Amino acid sequence: MDKRLNEIALHHGLDAQLDQTIEECSELILAIQKYKRYGNKDDGFDTYYLAQVGEEIVDVEIMIKQLKILIEGFDFETFENGKIVRELGRMKEAKP
Ligand SMILES: [Mg+2]
Repeated sequence: MDKRLNEIALHHGLDAQLDQTIEECSELILAIQKYKRYGNKDDGFDTYYLAQVGEEIVDVEIMIKQLKILIEGFDFETFENGKIVRELGRMKEAKP
């Protein structure tokens, strides 16, 4: 974990970083919507809109990393593993 994120997270605190996460998630949603609407058309806009999505993904990732610092005592790794295993199971069941 980047120690700079630890410093930022602890400076702002959970409540402020939850608000910021909402904002960054909203920006990611809008960037994806714009890419789906205006990008993906072979006219050069693909790269522009996809870069916007990439930038917002980074913003959201930074916020998620901070929330993982600030939300203590939650076993993120175990839950992540469980959800991946569950989805792989669903995919296996769905195969003809
Ligand atoms: Mg952003």
